[in-house]
Amino acid sequence: MKTNNKISVIANKKIDAKKLANASKIILDLQQELKKYINKGYGPFLAAIYDSNGNLIAKAANNVVNKSCSNNHAEINAIQLAEKKLGTYDLSPYNLSIYVTAEPCMMCLGSIMWSGIKEVYYGVPSGQVTKITGFDEGFKQNWYNEFKKRGITVYGQIETQAGEKVLKDYVSNGHTVYKPNR
Ligand SMILES: [Zn+2]
Repeated sequence: MKTNNKISVIANKKIDAKKLANASKIILDLQQELKKYINKGYGPFLAAIYDSNGNLIAKAANNVVNKSCSNNHAEINAIQLAEKKLGTYDLSPYNLSIYVTAEPCMMCLGSIMWSGIKEVYYGVPSGQVTKITGFDEGFKQNWYNEFKKRGITVYGQIETQAGEKVLKDYVSNGHTVYKPNR
């Protein structure tokens, strides 16, 4: 990971410029679209699953608060939609990629790992999500390498500034930062 003041994209595999350019576009579009979801009462995270031909398979936002379910993170909602659509619990034969507006939390890492998704692209890193919003992203040791061992490619910190702006607006507009009392 680079340590200069501008956060750089990090990956657990050699970066493919074409894939990265495509991911940047998708993530910027998701950040734009996320604002509309937030205005409708959704949480500030959006995930989309695409196949390797660029077809959208599923897209979903976080609806923990509006559906009263702590599991309803964007990634999990999107995976459930994709599995329902394709009629399977194993997405691995479909060669799918998930794009998320922020780094997956500890629960979603598990969900992604067991879904058979092959590539993960995300925007804002967890450290920044926690700093900006106060959401607890969990403990996630060495997950880049653990995913690599399992053949899952990860590209992170894509277009972070756009994502951070959405999160900052979420907080300043007084939306709920939910977490259990401890
Ligand atoms: Zn999550």
